[in-house]
Parts: sequence; structure tokens; C-alpha cells
Amino acid sequence: MDESDPIPISLVVQCCYCPRRAWLEAQGEQTDTFQMQAGTTSHERIDASVSFSETEASSIEIKSEQLGIVGKTDVVRRAGGGLVLREYKATPVRKKPEVIEGTRVQLALQALCMQEMGEKVAGTEVYFTNHNLTVPVPLSDADFETARHFVIETRDIVQSMSSPEALEDDPRCNFCSHVDVCLPDERYLRPVQKSVRAPIRDAKVIHLEIQGTYAHTKQGRMIIEYKGDSIGSIPLETVQAVQLHGNINLSGGLIKELLYRNIPIQWCTASGRLVGWTNSSMGPNGSTRQLQHLLSHDGSLPLAIEFISSKIANQATQLRRSTSDSELIKCLRNLQRQCEDSHDLEELMGIEGKAAALYFQFWPLLIKEGFRNDWTWFGRSGRPASDPINSMLNYSYSLLLADEIRSITACGLDPNAGFLHSSSRNKPALALDLMEEFRAPVVDSVVQTLINCQIVSPSDFTTVCGSVRMNQSARKALIECYERRMATEFIHPIFKYKVSWRRAIEIQARQILGFLEHSQSCYQGIHMR
Ligand code: SF4
Repeated sequence: MDESDPIPISLVVQCCYCPRRAWLEAQGEQTDTFQMQAGTTSHERIDASVSFSETEASSIEIKSEQLGIVGKTDVVRRAGGGLVLREYKATPVRKKPEVIEGTRVQLALQALCMQEMGEKVAGTEVYFTNHNLTVPVPLSDADFETARHFVIETRDIVQSMSSPEALEDDPRCNFCSHVDVCLPDERYLRPVQKSVRAPIRDAKVIHLEIQGTYAHTKQGRMIIEYKGDSIGSIPLETVQAVQLHGNINLSGGLIKELLYRNIPIQWCTASGRLVGWTNSSMGPNGSTRQLQHLLSHDGSLPLAIEFISSKIANQATQLRRSTSDSELIKCLRNLQRQCEDSHDLEELMGIEGKAAALYFQFWPLLIKEGFRNDWTWFGRSGRPASDPINSMLNYSYSLLLADEIRSITACGLDPNAGFLHSSSRNKPALALDLMEEFRAPVVDSVVQTLINCQIVSPSDFTTVCGSVRMNQSARKALIECYERRMATEFIHPIFKYKVSWRRAIEIQARQILGFLEHSQSCYQGIHMR
């Protein structure tokens, strides 16, 4: 929003509720919760009708040049020698139909706009739709003064580069539509009394991996076909993201609908390499993204230390659960402590390299002793995979990278501007940064399960031109196992509430956002115990 842009009255109302909520809205953090839906539905009838009659009109656009605000009335009717302004509110029946400060401010600003537009305002009122009750709202000079004050405060907030502080232990947060993106209690990096609610708990990442599949949209659903037969039909509101593995086709209509709903699509090759993703043109937090690019230019040692020390801590924990070799664990813990004292990124990367070499040297300890000899392992090889385990690790790291990118873009940050990995190498550097702490507890754990539970076997792999690849059933099993892991809940080591691994990634991405916008003092990685 430019300095000269008029401020929507609705944003001023958000500011009355909480300054940080106005800031989040101004940054483009739109939410679509049940409360918002109820409010929207109650306004839909009015907005759609734009009716005019001799005595009543709805959805009138209003503005005040003096105050620099714009808005829309719900209903305006002629009575008492002037106009009566009516606002519709969808307060649940179980709650008292009270006119709150935000509504008084809203009506006062509407009245000021109307007066400036040459109309006389004879009265203001609220109609509570669920209670079928009209409550008159007489406005005093103090109400108009308060409304003007909130316009000034909102303008200051909108133009600020940093967020107002989140409220602390405030009951407003319990009813706030933005609590999932604001994370007010998590800003203080200490145990949180109540759990964070994920925006749509049932929304799923849809993986399409049968080669030759075609998907299109019909009546709000994603229809999946193979060789002309329908093999799936999924309501779009239950889809969080769509990931395509190999030769999969989507209709233009489905791509547009997914973009419209801000549901990302990600394309991978059949061997799992991530090749691209979609991004809605309306991403939030543009000003924080600028701060990200500035900080990314030289990297950030405090952030990088957290990424790497958490990575090494989690590698040590992963091995400790499968081995009694306390010397090995001690070595990794020492390296973790050393990296916390690093003086620059180069030194940090050196320590990270030593830890990775040690961890992957002993990676086969994660496999049950009886199965160990069935699997070849000469160390971590990356792409092309030299053996079945590296093939599974490569594929799963790509799935994790896709998750990191989705979480980063959802909060408006640039996945290519990192603080540890160099942004100049045309790689999703921030996504690579953020995935460090999740590699061992998510990906390595998935591959460990696939082997130890005998879900895959070495016969599921073939070698093509020196590169080891898994067959379709192994790939399907790997994706299913990965999704189960992402849905698994654990006690968050910092906030002490139950959270799924997927939600934990989203929270970490928002921690980076909070660090950049100065709503929290530092970033803290997840260290599993
Ligand atoms: S969750 Fe609390 S601090 Fe955050 S925007 Fe809502 S009311 Fe404000």
C-alpha cells in the first residue's frame, strides 16, 4: 500500500481489535476461518444486491478525502430527514448481541464519509442477523474522535516496515481469525498453554504418481483419470497442495482454479527431482521479503548456526535411538557445540561437513542388524544415486524440499534467498536452509522405516546408466510413508504442544518471518530429544 493510497475502513476496524492484526492484513495475510466465513455470508446477500430504491440502498461505496479512507456501507435508508446507516453483524446466537468498539468506529467513519459526501446522517444502527435484532448506536463526539485516532494509527501501522508486538496472554487471541499465522505465544519461544490450530486440518497434499494420469476440475472437485477411467474425485477445499511425479497432465482449468485458490502445484521428475512450482500473484508480506533479500545478501550467522546446530543435534538423536555407541553420539554433540561458537559461515560449513561425514559413515546403524547385509552402502552419494538407500534418500529429500518451499511461499518469503546456502547458485537456498533440521527426523526416519519394516526390498531397484532407481510400487510406498510421517504428531520441544511434522515446518518458516519483521528476537531450531 502506497502512502497516498486510501485506507479501507475495514482495516481500521482490524486495528481496533488488535494493531498486529491490521498489520498482518495490510501485509496480505488473508485468512479464511469459520468466523470470517460467517461474516462474509451475512454480507454476501447485501453485496450481491446493490439495490436502490426511493428509501433504501445497499453496498454504497463511500470515501473521505480528508481522512484518506474508503469503504462500503451495508444498508442505508432515508429516515428522520437524513440517512440511517445500518451494519450487519453475524454474532453467534450463544453470544450477547453487543456493539463493540470496532463497530462504533466503523459506523463513525461511515458517517464522516457520508457527511463529507454532502449527506446528513440521521442515525446509525447494527442488525444482528442471527438474533434478528436491530440495535440503535447513537454516536458521540468522543466516538468520532476515537475513529479519527484509529485512522492515524492504522496509517502508521500500514507504513511501518516492522510489525507491532503480538498481544501477550490476551483473550482476544483466542477468537482471532489470524492466530494461526500470527502465532502470538510462539513469538516468545517458550512453552505455550494452548495448541496452535492449523488452518485446515484435513487438507492434504495430493501426490499424482501414476504415469499418464490426467486431472481436471468439475464442480469444485479435482477429477483424476487414467486411460479414460475416473480413478479419483477430491473436493478442492480439502487440497493443500498438488505434487506431480513424472508424466502427469493437468487441465488448464484445474491449474487456474488451483492458482485462484492459492493451492500450489509442484512438478517433479519421475526420479523425484523438483523442477518447479506455481505461486499465486497475491503472496503476502512483500515488505518483509525485501528485508529477507537484504539480509540474504551477506547471509546470517545467527540463523545459519541454528539451522546447522539443530541438524547435528537431530542427527545425533536419530543415531542414538538405534545404537549404544555413546562415543559416536558424544562426537556429534561436540560438533554441535562447536558450531554454536562458529565465527563465520565458512567455519560453520566446515563443522557441518565433519558432522555429515561422521553421521553418514554410521548411517547403516539405523537399519536393523538382521537386514543390514541386504543393503549396499558406500556413503552418501546424492544424485545420481549409487545405491537403493541413496535413491530413497534423494527422493525423500526432494519431497521435504517441496514441503519447505510451500511453507516458505505461504508466508510470502522467497525460497531462493537463503541465509546459509548461497542465493547465487540458483537453488531454493532458504528452503535448503530450513530443511536442515528436518532431514534426520523426517527423511532419514522414513527411509529407516521403509527398510526396517520391509516395505521395500533391494529387488525394487534397477540401475539405469549408473543411476539406481526405484520401481513404481516402491515409489508409491515411499510417498505414503513420507505422508504418514508428515502427519505424525510429536510434542514440540519448544512450545510443548502436540504438532504434526508438516505443521512444525510451517511454524519454523513463520519463525523466520517473525525474526525478519522483528516480532521475535531470534530463530530457534527444533532439537529432538
Ligand atoms: S492472534 Fe492476538 S496478537 Fe495476533 S493478530 Fe490476533 S489478536 Fe493480535
